[in-house]
Amino acid sequence: MKIITLALQEAQKIAAGEVVERPANSIKELLENSLDAGATKITLSLFEAGKKQIIITDNGSGMAPEDAQICFKRHTTSKIKTIDQLETITTFGFRGEALASICSVAKVTLTTKPQNSDQGIELTLENGTIIHEKIVGCQTGTTIIIDDLFYNVPARKKFLKSSTTEWNHILNLFKAFALDNSSVHFILKHNESVVYNCPPVGTMKERVRQLFDPKIAENSITFAPTETNGITLSGTLTTQNYARYDRGGLFFFVNSRWVKNYQLANALTKGYLNVLPSGRYPAAIISLTLDPTSVDINVHPKKEEVQFLKPRTVESAITAAVKTTLEQHLSRQLKRTVAFAPQQQEQQEEFRHPFIPMPPFENFQEIAPKVVPEEISLQEPVEQNQTEQIMPHQKTATEEAQKQQAVEQPGILIGQYRNTYLLLEKQDGLFLIDQHAAHERILYEQFSKRFNDVPIIELLFPHTVEINQHDMSLLEPHLHLFKEQGIVVEPISTDRLAIKATPVFFKNEPIDDIIQKMISWIKETNTINSEDFYKTITERLRAQMACKAAIKAGDRLSNEAMEQLLADLETINNRFTCPHGRPTSWFLSLNELERKFKRKL
Ligand code: ADP
Ligand code: MG
Repeated sequence: MKIITLALQEAQKIAAGEVVERPANSIKELLENSLDAGATKITLSLFEAGKKQIIITDNGSGMAPEDAQICFKRHTTSKIKTIDQLETITTFGFRGEALASICSVAKVTLTTKPQNSDQGIELTLENGTIIHEKIVGCQTGTTIIIDDLFYNVPARKKFLKSSTTEWNHILNLFKAFALDNSSVHFILKHNESVVYNCPPVGTMKERVRQLFDPKIAENSITFAPTETNGITLSGTLTTQNYARYDRGGLFFFVNSRWVKNYQLANALTKGYLNVLPSGRYPAAIISLTLDPTSVDINVHPKKEEVQFLKPRTVESAITAAVKTTLEQHLSRQLKRTVAFAPQQQEQQEEFRHPFIPMPPFENFQEIAPKVVPEEISLQEPVEQNQTEQIMPHQKTATEEAQKQQAVEQPGILIGQYRNTYLLLEKQDGLFLIDQHAAHERILYEQFSKRFNDVPIIELLFPHTVEINQHDMSLLEPHLHLFKEQGIVVEPISTDRLAIKATPVFFKNEPIDDIIQKMISWIKETNTINSEDFYKTITERLRAQMACKAAIKAGDRLSNEAMEQLLADLETINNRFTCPHGRPTSWFLSLNELERKFKRKL
């Protein structure tokens, strides 16, 4: 074995491969440089997913010829002078490595002109050295052309993935930059066609609209910056009406840097528990700001990964913020304070008249508009409270969030459709509520709250249930579980049970079925951990009771009953799904409706 020192150029090529292992990495460095140079417009043109050519043009500060001549050397940076400045750095770059790396593995042309100069300079580099240089006329700013990435490192070039894969990396990166800098004009072109053109916008929601499927912006809500435990969080996230099969719609920014972090994505998904079915994901853009000393974004030269001093605190802040935002959003959608339109009032009177015969066609009655009587509208006080809840930090609220709240309109209860769905008219769409699923959830949450304290009614004539002896022996040790839920059951022989009391709301619901179900759960729950067993059985029992006692699909409801249901749904937890996981409500946005009818494109 013989140890040799690598030629500087060879060493540089190896090092470069680590920083710019794929086109997206080079592009990231270039975008960061443009932003560091104060650009307000950045155009990125690619050929073959950047493998063949990358051109980036910005209108930033540009460089004087003497700076341009050395910016490709290693450790050349205008951003720090000593390592002490790292703590307070506000630019993306500081290592002075990116341009050096890129030009050691690609052919590079740089054209640049600072504001105070009439002419610019154009430099052509190969293998890290300048091979041509000329004075040119050009706009203020910088254009960098990168040709044939890894042309001189075949081993790396071989590892470049298919154009589709590289392109997906670039798309994600581009979206992340555009999201995090909504006041910058970003343009992305691929093989000469414009893929995105995003002029500056004032709000995240508008930027989301520029970059994603219209469904995402339409079903997005924004939450204003709120601070917990030194972490300031803000974001835009999709509601229960949007779901996808992958995490590709999630973007996280920590102190204004895009980061990829599985834990953060998990924390966010946790906030959607009971909102989206498992295996489905939302789209969300979350920004975290925290003390730079409690986070390390520079753990990796590519600066994509992030390490927190207290990851749990950060994660629970995200979960909590997401949960609260979704809950409050649904509360606002459900709010049914009513502004009467005159002709609706007439109709209402018609319907309230006790001697009006039933309309001849059932369907007519089902969909005929009905309005909530004025006396049960919850105008002022609720509005006040809600405002407080939604905006605990209203002073720091972004304009966007305030605007969103200001346009939040009360809903009008249209009525019941097919005696199954409540229809609530909102300014921006139609809200549909499944009466059974919603009521099931309400009852379930109430049972869970009133643990051991359910109002019960003693039966004058205890109801008896026959079960076989084996089942009796299984069930007997767990009868206290029934009691905790307000069902008083006692064995009266080896194969007979007496039901002595039931929860008041249970009325005439048969208990036999619940007892049979309980036996089968006990048989199938083979956990040895008694705490888990207790929890599982109790949850199932509550869900079953809620199902039995809940309003059924097909039950005709009075206005008061509908109102009560909406009011209850507004206040309970986990109201997006019933205890079995079915959704309780669905929002059909006006936009979606208008697109369906081709009123809008
Ligand atoms: P770093 O960004 O870490 O300083 P780079 O190698 O990315 O290192 O860039 C070196 C220097 O070149 C920067 O510090 C900056 O002064 C200059 N530079 C690079 N790109 C641009 C640009 N688009 N506009 C103006 N100056 C630039
Ligand atoms: Mg840089």
